Amino acid sequence: MRIAMISEHASPLAALGEEDAGGQNTHVAELAAALATEGHDVRVYTRRDSPVLPDVVGVAEGYQVLHVPAGPARRVPKDELLPYMGEFGRWLAVQWRDGDWTPDVAHAHFWMSGLATVHAGRRAGVPMVLTYHALGTVKRRHQRERDTSPPGRIGYERALGRAADRVIVQCQDEIRELVRLGVPRSRMTLVPSGVNQEMFRPDGPAVARDPARPRILTVGRMVERKGFQDVIRALPAVPDTECVVVGGPPADLLPADTFARRLRALAESCGVADRVRLVGAVPREEMGRWYRSADVLVAAPWYEPFGLTPLEGMACGVPVIGTNVGGIADTVVDGLTGDLVPPRDPRALGTAIRRLLSDRIRRFAYATAALDRIRSSYSWKRAAEQLGAVYTAVSAFGRPTPAVA
Ligand code: UDP
Repeated sequence: MRIAMISEHASPLAALGEEDAGGQNTHVAELAAALATEGHDVRVYTRRDSPVLPDVVGVAEGYQVLHVPAGPARRVPKDELLPYMGEFGRWLAVQWRDGDWTPDVAHAHFWMSGLATVHAGRRAGVPMVLTYHALGTVKRRHQRERDTSPPGRIGYERALGRAADRVIVQCQDEIRELVRLGVPRSRMTLVPSGVNQEMFRPDGPAVARDPARPRILTVGRMVERKGFQDVIRALPAVPDTECVVVGGPPADLLPADTFARRLRALAESCGVADRVRLVGAVPREEMGRWYRSADVLVAAPWYEPFGLTPLEGMACGVPVIGTNVGGIADTVVDGLTGDLVPPRDPRALGTAIRRLLSDRIRRFAYATAALDRIRSSYSWKRAAEQLGAVYTAVSAFGRPTPAVA
């Protein structure tokens, strides 16, 4: 099939770890590669955010990335991209209607891509599948007045849930949120993200470390909701350990980063500064070496639409302690493949870390069960096959009649 993937802010080619580049970029890159491996003709459309980008990039994994001219050719925070989605959608519509490549299906990632895609899809007669990746209702609940989403986001997300031919959800929590929003359950298909099991595997090199000091690893973009503060606050309860934080700006820019400075100040005030190491952004292909260097991976977000890092840790054979939120509540089976603790609870986190680090047999049992779970349920090949079936269904039955110009 000819498959268009639209990911307006999250390019599969971007460096990860910085504020607007994380799981969605990885998801789109891995999914596009897995769909191409299945024999599909895949094009990813993302916004041109630099003047030096070529119009089209052929990726070694067998798909193309097209840079769409919509808004200024520079980095713009994703919450400020809404005004350019009309331009994005019109550009897609012209390509798909008048160009020589019309997709059989368009899969939009994130609600803003959904807006551009619904516009183009209606004009070119292309059905739309939508993955939200994150929901405005959840963000509003947690961030309140600090939520920088455009004001209409929740209304758009509700409307898109009804306009899409199929909504792909990633976890049970997302299903509950969308039902509450008014999206019919019958429109949703659950297809969790996968994990790259070549890149993330238990055997392989690890970053050098002090073998005498148990290592707690935590990974993510440097934003408040990732809960790095809670991990630091938990450290006094686990003496003689080190905590390594991977993610954020590149290492040379960390000293000037406001959030990194806050974390350092917090570590000072908790008396653990000598045990906390901020690494900054790590290239994706280096991530396995960091996971494998750890005794335990802690994923402590306040909320998490899906959460790839716990899956990556599990695939590397590292036991995971996660907060009982979003996708983590599905991927980590409490007491079997890892431990779940309440979010924003450093005391519970400290207790769980201490218990796990003092119990080698439990760590081994979690790692083994987690690997089993990864191998049976979380491959990108499986996700690509499930999505292939969805695409076939919507392109056979859901193809809208092209709108008259
Ligand atoms: N990541 C990376 N380098 C970093 C930090 C993170 O490659 O320095 C990757 C990480 O391996 C994972 C993704 O970024 O694939 C983060 O995805 P997740 O779903 O955990 O969080 P999100 O960023 O979507 O909130």
